[in-house]
Amino acid sequence: MALRLYDTLTKQKREFAPLDPHNVRMYVCGPTVYDFAHIGNARPVIVFDVLFRLLRHLYGESHVKYVRNITDVDDKINDRAARDYPGLPLNEAIRKVTEKTEQQFHDDVDALGCLRPTVEPRATEHIAEMRQIIEKLVAGGFAYAEQDHVLFSPAAMNAANGVLPRYGALANRTLDEMIAGARVDVAPYKRDATDFVLWKPSKPGEPSWPSPAGITTEGRPGWHIECSAMSWKHLGETFDIHGGGIDLVFPHHENEVAQTCCAFHTSRMAQTWMHNGFLQVEGEKMSKSLGNFVTIRELLATEKFGGRKWPGEVVRLTMLKTHYRSPIDWTAQALEESFENISSWHAAISPHFLSGIPGDYPPPEEVIDGLADDLNFSRVVAEMHQWARAARAGDSAAAKKLAAAADFFELRRMSWDRTLQEFVYETTVDDALRAKFDRLIEARAAARANKDWKESDRIRDELAAMGVVLKDGKDADGKPVTTWEIAR
Ligand code: AMP
Ligand code: ZN
Repeated sequence: MALRLYDTLTKQKREFAPLDPHNVRMYVCGPTVYDFAHIGNARPVIVFDVLFRLLRHLYGESHVKYVRNITDVDDKINDRAARDYPGLPLNEAIRKVTEKTEQQFHDDVDALGCLRPTVEPRATEHIAEMRQIIEKLVAGGFAYAEQDHVLFSPAAMNAANGVLPRYGALANRTLDEMIAGARVDVAPYKRDATDFVLWKPSKPGEPSWPSPAGITTEGRPGWHIECSAMSWKHLGETFDIHGGGIDLVFPHHENEVAQTCCAFHTSRMAQTWMHNGFLQVEGEKMSKSLGNFVTIRELLATEKFGGRKWPGEVVRLTMLKTHYRSPIDWTAQALEESFENISSWHAAISPHFLSGIPGDYPPPEEVIDGLADDLNFSRVVAEMHQWARAARAGDSAAAKKLAAAADFFELRRMSWDRTLQEFVYETTVDDALRAKFDRLIEARAAARANKDWKESDRIRDELAAMGVVLKDGKDADGKPVTTWEIAR
């Protein structure tokens, strides 16, 4: 089975062949930490989590390295710090904002069932690497210092001979088109309108570090250089996959390629460039001014969107049901449908496996085959619905496949989230099952009364194997009572 992934640079689905199958390397641009992450930010996190899981399955868990950075130096962070902690020195306030936001981000994406990346580097811990790359670029004639800024010159890159890619190849535009485009600013320290900032002066009180390129005042890095530095440090000069949202192709990724390839004289920064499509909300671009800005936290912990709290796996499934490269319209109706899907899958699995208790089954071949086709999750969901139908008709093998698929996508373990647990339990744990648990608990109480600890432990283990945890306590009259709940 060959893994095929769509590459933004060549605009083709190509067979994926890692540079080193014992060390498959992926970099994804992470959040700028100044506020709660919104549901658009969750898209790359979830999409690349599934790819991470697939790569781990194909190449072995210890052979895949996933790096997702934390951008902790940025104007938006500085502004937020000054606003929220006016009494503190700016640097202290900035640390408070970034630490708090990073924690919120982790809590949110954990709740969405995403594995932590192998490394989560912070930009401010890689200033030395940024300076090193900048020095190499200046020495190579690709960058110059001017008025305490260091600028990268795309024109110099395109004038150089050799292995380097053409600046603009990833975004598929020429320098002339970029000059005509509105997204390059003219500034007095730039020789060309297309030149972009590698390093700039810090304003008084802002975080600052000793500057490269002979600049005597302190300064701070531009945004693009961060990712070149962190990917180099953790993955090397060239690696396998670079990902992020489609909005990052230009200028961010184009500039990352330029910096990295010119610094190390390589033709490629990443073998495969992958970009997720954009997310909009109920048919409109998400924006604070339109009032349709939705954070992950609001979905999980408030009833603001669609009138109820949404379990993490419902959010996750909703995100995955649209192909990652297509735009996605985030609607309450889509969440309702995913809620129904997950509930119906639990209901299909439970008669076979006692309420859908996670098992350790490998993902079915159909799941891997579907994902290997450029993460064709829709194909996999279609299979899952079929397995659910078969399971309801009594097919235990189908139930097992469905359970294994749901586990692989992390759509089941979290279901012991209270909302969904209660819902699923009300609808799926049939009376026969409850009666069985009660019978076993009674037998155990009898064994305990006879001081037959061996038998009492055996029954506890039997229930535990079904995912049922016992809680021994006393009732209002002080008599021992045992209640049960499903292990979380
Ligand atoms: P940012 O913090 O804005 O740099 O974004 C972090 C990640 O979220 C990047 O990979 C962005 O491409 C991605 N992203 C931001 N907004 C959206 C959106 N509305 N839809 C999809 N991805 C997004
Ligand atoms: Zn980046």
